[in-house]
Amino acid sequence: MTNARRSLHDLSFGELGDTLERDGVNPRHARALWRAMYREGATSLLRADFPPPLVRWIEAQTGEGGRWFLDQPKLVEEIRSSDGLTRKFLLRLDDGQVIETVLMGYDGRHTVCVSSQAGCAMGCVFCATGQMGYMRHLRAGEIVAQVLHARRALAEAAPGKRLRNLVMMGMGEPLHNYDGVMRALETISDVRGIGIGPSKIAVSTVGVVPGILRMADEGQPYRLAVSLHGSTEEERAALVPVSERWPLAMLIDACRQYGVATGKRIFFEWTLIAGKNDAPETARRLARLLEGIDAHVNLIPLNPTAGFDGEASSRGAVFQRILRDAGFPCTFRQRRGIDVAAGCGMLKAERRKREASSAR
Ligand code: SAH
Ligand code: SF4
Repeated sequence: MTNARRSLHDLSFGELGDTLERDGVNPRHARALWRAMYREGATSLLRADFPPPLVRWIEAQTGEGGRWFLDQPKLVEEIRSSDGLTRKFLLRLDDGQVIETVLMGYDGRHTVCVSSQAGCAMGCVFCATGQMGYMRHLRAGEIVAQVLHARRALAEAAPGKRLRNLVMMGMGEPLHNYDGVMRALETISDVRGIGIGPSKIAVSTVGVVPGILRMADEGQPYRLAVSLHGSTEEERAALVPVSERWPLAMLIDACRQYGVATGKRIFFEWTLIAGKNDAPETARRLARLLEGIDAHVNLIPLNPTAGFDGEASSRGAVFQRILRDAGFPCTFRQRRGIDVAAGCGMLKAERRKREASSAR
C-alpha cells in the first residue's frame, strides 16, 4: 500500500505544511495552496502565480505517479425543487459509492446539508438511508468536497452569494464517523479558507452518547442537534433501534451533561409520525423530559419512504403549542422541496429503483 494516493483534502492546515516541509518545500507555501483549495475552490492547483518550488511539488505530487490527489466527486444527477430553492446533488465517490448533498436557499440564507457516511448503520425505520444499510464512513476530504461542490454550484447560480450555514443532516450518522467529521469541520470552518463559522454548523446525531460527551469534553464549537422521536423507551425504540444501546434515559442524561459543560442550547429533532409519536400526551412527556435543558425543539413532518408505511401527522400544531406553553422554543422544519425527494437518502433509493426497473 506504499503507493496508495492520498487526498490533500484529508489534511489539516498544519499537516499540509508538514507535508511540504518533508518534501523540501517551504511550509509557508501551505498558505497559498490552502487558499487556492478552499478560498477559491480551485479544481486544478497548477497556477502561474505560485512560487516555482510549489509549482514543481504540485506537478510531481498531484500528477501521474504522484502521492496526492484532490477529492472531486462526480455529479451523477441534480434535482431541483419546483420553487428552485432546493437543489439536490447525487455525487459519486472514487470507489463508486453514491452520496447526497443538498443546497438550500431560503430567506437569502444558503445552507448546505452534508453526508457523513455512505449509508447508515443506525437503522431508523422511517429513514431512507437507514433502510439501505451501512456501506462505509466518508473520509474528511469527501465531506469537505461536498461543501466545495455546493459552493461552486451556488457561485454559478447566484454570484456573490455566500454559503453561510452547514448541517450534518445528509446521509449517515456523523458521530459514528466522529474523527472524519470533526477533521472535516475543522477545515470547513477555517477562516483562511471556506470559513463557515462554527456557530453556523450543526451536527445532528441520532443519539450516539459517547460522541455527545466527547464533543463536550473536547469543547467542539459546533451546534448539537439530537434526533429524539420518542418520549418513552418503548416509543423511541420502535423508531430508533440504537436506543437499545443508548437508552433514552442515558441520552437525556448525556444531553444534560453536554448543556452544563458547554452552556450551549441543544436542538432536539422530532419527526412527527401519525399514531406513533404525535399524541398530546407525548408532547407533555417530552416537555417534562427536557425540563432544565436549554432546548429548542424542531418538528419535522415525515417524508414518506418506500420501506416504512407510517404517515405524516396532522397533529403537529397541537404538539407545537404544548411545547411552547411549557416554555420551549418549538419550530417546524420546513422540508420544502419534498417534491425533489428531499429526505436524506431518498433520491439515491429512488434512483436504484429506477435502474432496477429499466434493467428488467
Ligand atoms: N443521522 C443523523 C443525521 C441525518 S438525518 C440523525 O439521525 O440525526 C437528519 C434528520 O432527518 C434526522 O432528525 C432524521 O430523523 C430526519 N429524517 C430522516 N428520515 C426522515 C424522513 N423520512 N422524514 C422526516 N425526517 C426524516
Ligand atoms: Fe442514520 Fe440518521 Fe437515518 Fe437514523 S435518521 S438511519 S441515524 S441517517
